[in-house]
Amino acid sequence: MPDVKLIKINEQLADLLDIDIGFLTSQAGLRFLSGKNSENLPNSISLAYAGHQFGHLVPQLGDGRAVLLGDKICKDGVRRDIQLKGSGKTYFSRGGDGRAGIGPVIREYLISESMHHLGVPTTRSLAVLSTGEKVVRAEVTPGAMLARVATSHVRVGTFEFFALRNQRENIRKLADFMIERSHPDLCEKKKKYELFFERIVIGQARLVAQWNSVGFIHGVMNTDNTSISYETIDYGPCAFMDSYEANKVFSSIDQFGRYAFSNQARVAPWNLSRLAETILFLISENTSEAIKVVEEILFDFDKHFNNSLDILSSRKLGIKNNSKNTSSLYSELLNLMEAGKADFTHTFKSLKAILIKEDTSIFLNNFIGLDEDNQRALNKWLGDWKKFMKENNESKAKAIDLLSSSNPEFIMRNHLVEKSIVKATEDDFSDFEILSDLLINPYEIKENHEAFYKAPTNKEVVHKTFCGT
Ligand code: AMP
Ligand code: MG
Repeated sequence: MPDVKLIKINEQLADLLDIDIGFLTSQAGLRFLSGKNSENLPNSISLAYAGHQFGHLVPQLGDGRAVLLGDKICKDGVRRDIQLKGSGKTYFSRGGDGRAGIGPVIREYLISESMHHLGVPTTRSLAVLSTGEKVVRAEVTPGAMLARVATSHVRVGTFEFFALRNQRENIRKLADFMIERSHPDLCEKKKKYELFFERIVIGQARLVAQWNSVGFIHGVMNTDNTSISYETIDYGPCAFMDSYEANKVFSSIDQFGRYAFSNQARVAPWNLSRLAETILFLISENTSEAIKVVEEILFDFDKHFNNSLDILSSRKLGIKNNSKNTSSLYSELLNLMEAGKADFTHTFKSLKAILIKEDTSIFLNNFIGLDEDNQRALNKWLGDWKKFMKENNESKAKAIDLLSSSNPEFIMRNHLVEKSIVKATEDDFSDFEILSDLLINPYEIKENHEAFYKAPTNKEVVHKTFCGT
């Protein structure tokens, strides 16, 4: 790479990793981040994996443009991988060039960091570098690299890779590696594999509930993009919804809506079933016994998902303790939002204005073109919500606090990401800088930056996302 330059360092994350920022921004740091001192990192590797992509088995995938530089115990005691993406061809590149364009790199930085600051488990972004090269995609675009950080890069597809090759000992080693690394309390347990699987199921159920609570659509929930550490991974065609639509799909390649918003909680257990198949023999030598065990765990996915979503959605309504009433209030509101093309983020945050200003107009203005029945239903909903708020909150101030801390002002909307990418392609990183600053405090509006909190206009709205690499 002729001219590697540092575009962005995530100082907070560098601090968590306990890596000196002075080093990272020095020439030596640049060599480290761009993988140029790989002779000092003899254990750097690219990982093999397989995967079910849109339901179809692909036996051979892998890090086609990524190198795992190593891992490190961070200040919080958690071990994390540092991986370089876009660093060149690897053993697994197949026909690809191993490179990344500036667009997808900026996209991953902004959306993954936004997710992190919204409290959603995710891989993170440590640095963006430009390479000085051009890469050929739909258009010729500047080359870039992303330094990515994850609790692990092991995926459901990593287990599938060995299962497809009938390499049972390697599956055992991989499971033991993950248990030792992330679940050391299970190491000595007799049923450790079963408990390990249960943790992944619970983790994935909670993760998808969190996605739903912020209107996030992953877009490419293939098993190679399903993390064993239940973090959001792969920011290809993902997007936050603007106006609410239960079956919303952004990804240009998701023709049949397999990964639509409302399908995410169905796809995750499907993916986890693929994982279960690879570890049955670890759970019991008797296959039908093992199937019974994993089925029971998988059946509980819905329970875990619904429990998490009920808690999160109740808080979004400003009500501390969830109940049957809060879940029906939430789903009724979503139905009306869909009918009135209401903005997901703005509708929830406008509930606060009702309490602060005793004014329902900001809330009602989110809904456009409701027919008479729906208008009546919305008014009734407001009455029910107000009554329920009064009965179930200690004070108005507490309810306002809960609404403020549960409903973001800022999400990384697609039109903002797209605009910042257009500018970055022309070597102007000003929007990228602003967005990477705003995402850190998503629950507050930063003065003089009001435009970044608005929903897109009809002209600005982005309907399709692409798996750009
Ligand atoms: P993704 O759609 O990002 O999940 O990628 C699917 C597979 O294609 C992964 O195994 C990637 O490593 C690989 N891949 C994506 N882009 C490239 C590229 N430019 N060069 C080589 N491999 C790639
Ligand atoms: Mg992927």
